[in-house]
Amino acid sequence: MRITEVKTYKVAGRGWPRYPWVFVEVCTDEGISGFGESTPREGVFEAISEVGKSIVGEDPLNVTLLFEKISRRGVPLPFISGIEIALWDILGKRLNEPIYQLLGGKCRDRVRVYVDGFFRGAEYRPEDYARKAEEVVNEGFTALKMDVDGPLPSMHRISRQPDKSDINLTVDIVAAVRKAIGHDRDLAVDTHGEFNLPTIIELIRKLEPYDLMWIEDPVPLHGGNVKTMAKVTSLSRTPICSGETLTRPQFRELLELQAADIIMPDVTYVGGIMELFKTAAMADTYHVPVAPHNMYGPIATMASVQVCACIPNFMILEFQWADVPWRDKILNEPIPVKRGYIEVPDKPGIGVEVNKEELNKHLVA
Ligand SMILES: [Mg+2]
Repeated sequence: MRITEVKTYKVAGRGWPRYPWVFVEVCTDEGISGFGESTPREGVFEAISEVGKSIVGEDPLNVTLLFEKISRRGVPLPFISGIEIALWDILGKRLNEPIYQLLGGKCRDRVRVYVDGFFRGAEYRPEDYARKAEEVVNEGFTALKMDVDGPLPSMHRISRQPDKSDINLTVDIVAAVRKAIGHDRDLAVDTHGEFNLPTIIELIRKLEPYDLMWIEDPVPLHGGNVKTMAKVTSLSRTPICSGETLTRPQFRELLELQAADIIMPDVTYVGGIMELFKTAAMADTYHVPVAPHNMYGPIATMASVQVCACIPNFMILEFQWADVPWRDKILNEPIPVKRGYIEVPDKPGIGVEVNKEELNKHLVA
């Protein structure tokens, strides 16, 4: 079996025009093709196209060898993720097995998800957020995440020093959402590293009564702040979760310094299926659970599900609310999400096929 072509698709998904979904298709001379997805980043399409040309003629079933050859040339892992996932999809289809089976089998038949973006379209006010949260739990979801840096101008100051009134409003909104969803459901908050150190410590303290599942990215991930993250984590009684734009070497440092209680690698950023699997294994040696980040397209969601099904230290997977209405139409069947869980499909590869006719309607140049 040989690779004949690597195609990219720039899809105007939920984040468009801020960012596209980055779909990758690896084609072979045996008529089997695989789909993957990468994180949208500057230069990603050019990089995938260049790497794609370099692997034409290679055997797609040598997934690890191809990954090593590409990454040792210095290609950043987020650029490789889409190709790597597509190679696993091909391997699964060729062997007629789902990817989870090739990784050692399922630890679970369904993957718990939390809803991100339940607040889309709401004003940043307690009653509006509470109402939106109720809509989502009424659909059967048992876990939610909200952004608390929010649309408040003072929270995006260059000083990372918001007004006290904004901090208090944020606490009021979290309190209202907690009240709306009750105490038996999970609630996480994402701070996107928007606050300075004293402010985030104050906010964490003020949010403590609301029994949060986690507080995400209390300090910026970039800029060598792992020790600051470790300090915040040691001071916080609420679990700290981080890592959506980290790869395995950076997770090593995060784990060694005990800078996060939960990690959230993203299959489209970390380097694909095997890197997510290996990162989870590394975290497991620190007794740290894995809650994969997932905010792009449905291929990434279904690829994540394959790994989430088979890692023992899986916690919960992100799932996007208020997505584009055609999200499920570009797959041959809708994402099997039911009352807060995604059923693990038993079809080969990533478990879904892409409907190219529908996909072609949503491409941008
Ligand atoms: Mg985040």
